[in-house]
Amino acid sequence: MRQDFPLPDVTWEPAREFWAGASRSEVLIPRCTACGAYAWYPVARCRRCGEARFAWTRMSGRGRLFSWVVVHRAFLPAFAAKVPFVAALVALDEEPAVRLATNLVDCVPEALDFDMPVRAVFRPLRFPGVEREVMAPMFVPAEG
Ligand SMILES: [Zn+2]
Repeated sequence: MRQDFPLPDVTWEPAREFWAGASRSEVLIPRCTACGAYAWYPVARCRRCGEARFAWTRMSGRGRLFSWVVVHRAFLPAFAAKVPFVAALVALDEEPAVRLATNLVDCVPEALDFDMPVRAVFRPLRFPGVEREVMAPMFVPAEG
């Protein structure tokens, strides 16, 4: 297990640009340079046309709540201080098939609803005993 577990490995090549974008408060998703299809998670070749080149593209950060769960018991000890928290899948407005696994923050869990509009905010991922932190896109409820 890496020493900074459970932080994401921001040096892992397929997602390196995603984390670099997050550190600048940008949501970046790879987009096929041939047909324009978004690819998330990153893939070697475009699922639509087979192209191997992608351009990391800045998204609006707006999306819809696709699914969520309120976590009350930490599965891993490192998350114990975070409960309760909302783990969510957010479908991005530009391409709802692109769904980010993320957290909803600054929200009332009982007020969450399917397909509600959300927008990205950027918050550091921090864990006890881990010195480093990673800036990550999370989401808050947005006005319709
Ligand atoms: Zn393509």
